[in-house]
Amino acid sequence: GSGLYVVATPIGNLGDISERAREVLASADLVLAEDRRMAARLLQHIGVRTTVANYHEHNAARARPDILRRLAEGQVIALTSDAGTPLISDPGYRLVDEALEAGVAVRAVPGPSAVIAALSVSGLPTDRFMFVGFPPPKQAARRSFLAEVAGIAATLVFYESPRRLPDCLRDMAAVLGDRPAAVARELTKLHEEVRRGGLPDLADHYTAAGPPKGEIVIIVGPPAAAETDWAAIDRELADRLTGESL
Ligand code: SAM
Repeated sequence: GSGLYVVATPIGNLGDISERAREVLASADLVLAEDRRMAARLLQHIGVRTTVANYHEHNAARARPDILRRLAEGQVIALTSDAGTPLISDPGYRLVDEALEAGVAVRAVPGPSAVIAALSVSGLPTDRFMFVGFPPPKQAARRSFLAEVAGIAATLVFYESPRRLPDCLRDMAAVLGDRPAAVARELTKLHEEVRRGGLPDLADHYTAAGPPKGEIVIIVGPPAAAETDWAAIDRELADRLTGESL
């Protein structure tokens, strides 16, 4: 049917394109992409000749009215991003929101995402996790960002640039302590690597080795149960409940 399709594309290995992604991209009236040339390469690889238009941070607001008009006319539009799943630290949220608001059907064509790929091979608990995207680039802001998520009883997933990896890991070790963690690099690509260890050890390693090359996901295990003072939390909750009932 017509509508907006949110189509996941590979995060490195072109073999990860799904059969359904190929079908939707081939039958769409228009493919939206962050970088038309990158998208053209993918489409050529899978033998698809659909027209590609830019949809990125800098033209999204300008481009949306025309996209929404086409959707209202019954066209099929496929939203992609440079890699992985659109909207996950990538453009698309406003388009999906406004399409739904306009009564347009929005469908997912699920597939790769670096968050899930990294989590699945991290060796860290996956029953409860929080994706927090890119930490702020400057140290003071990064440390308060880390302090904000420090108490969350879940595995934390971060995207980070390789250039900032050593600094970021040092701040993580300082703010989050010696938690088990993993640095997943170049997933699905030739130089795929997952380095596991405590945050201080990982910080030492990448400080000594220098920034690596490629794309990075950092996974940090949940705070140790012992670090969460449940007795204190219980007392706090009990105090509040009694306070209210009196
Ligand atoms: N929408 C994408 C997704 O679903 O994974 C993420 C887009 S975000 C702008 C790009 C970041 O994702 C990179 O800086 C890196 O942190 C992570 N990433 C993307 N591909 C990766 C890969 N092959 N290996 C490790 N991390 C990757």
